[in-house]
Amino acid sequence: MTLPTIDQRYMLDFLVGLLNTPSPTGFTAAAIEYTEKALIAFPEVSCTRTRKGGLLVKWEGKQDDHPRALTAHVDTLGAMVKEIKGNGRLKLTKLGGFAWNTVEGEGVTVFAANGKKIRGSLLLSKSSSHVHGAATNDTKRDDDAMEVRLDAVTHKAEETKALGIQVGDFVAFDPRVQVVNGFIRSRHLDDKACVANLVAAVKAFHDAGMKPAQTTYLLISNYEEVGHGASAGIPAEVEELVAVDMAAIGDGQTSDEFHPTLCVKDSGGPYHHGLSNHLRKLAEQHEIPYKVDIYPYYGSDGEAYWRAGGDVKVALIGPGVDASHNYERTHMDALMGTTKWVLAYLFH
Ligand SMILES: [Zn+2]
Repeated sequence: MTLPTIDQRYMLDFLVGLLNTPSPTGFTAAAIEYTEKALIAFPEVSCTRTRKGGLLVKWEGKQDDHPRALTAHVDTLGAMVKEIKGNGRLKLTKLGGFAWNTVEGEGVTVFAANGKKIRGSLLLSKSSSHVHGAATNDTKRDDDAMEVRLDAVTHKAEETKALGIQVGDFVAFDPRVQVVNGFIRSRHLDDKACVANLVAAVKAFHDAGMKPAQTTYLLISNYEEVGHGASAGIPAEVEELVAVDMAAIGDGQTSDEFHPTLCVKDSGGPYHHGLSNHLRKLAEQHEIPYKVDIYPYYGSDGEAYWRAGGDVKVALIGPGVDASHNYERTHMDALMGTTKWVLAYLFH
């Protein structure tokens, strides 16, 4: 029982391209299109869009009496223009859960409603310590304290509006992708890393001329960071759902950047014991080193589907991501391990 071979180069190239495609929650069309474009190269799968803009992939299996699904999300943290300030700078509102200090100083792109992209940086409004002294350190980072300095000549609200910027425009933080010594460092590895794992799994089966054991759906969801990504879009006949999303690393956690993790409980309670145990057995059978962990402040698309009434078994696996919802980092070992685990699940 040999699993198909993973094309590591392909997975990394796909991932880097996806990371460089901005997709804050609510503004994910380009990332969905990028993923669809990769998947339609494989004739074994067929792609459709959900009405709310996710990508649903159907993959014929050897059998179809116990259909399954896997899900990963392309939407990321980001922001939206809340207000155009009197000085021409922008006040933002957050999309998803993060702390302002994790994006302070980051380059941003504002997607104006007229299609223009305007560059800038997110800064504390009291940014210069030569002017504000201790306040640059002491000021609490909140919506009112942060502003976008646009790379355009503007000194007042009217001039910013003349650039085409309006309240409600989406704002993306620069992903700053770096691949060094097997590490992949970027914002938004959550959850683009796992979209890459799923696409690489399709390619591995394709290259080997193999089919998954059961007909399998892949839902590439687009509203996970705000809690309702996979609440719709999983076909009703599906019996099992494996959410593939990053593992949380930190003090007291077992997860690390070199392994995939099975999450058995998070803020939404325990996952399905039977399906989790099935995944443990597959990992052991295929000699995939893995961790088991609990994530204290975390919810997944699997639980989103449960909350929406989905009557399925749900489990959660994914690569360890350091500094999650911050400047994230993982290692190729964790990505390969997660993909191999997905292959084992598909294979049996
Ligand atoms: Zn995620």
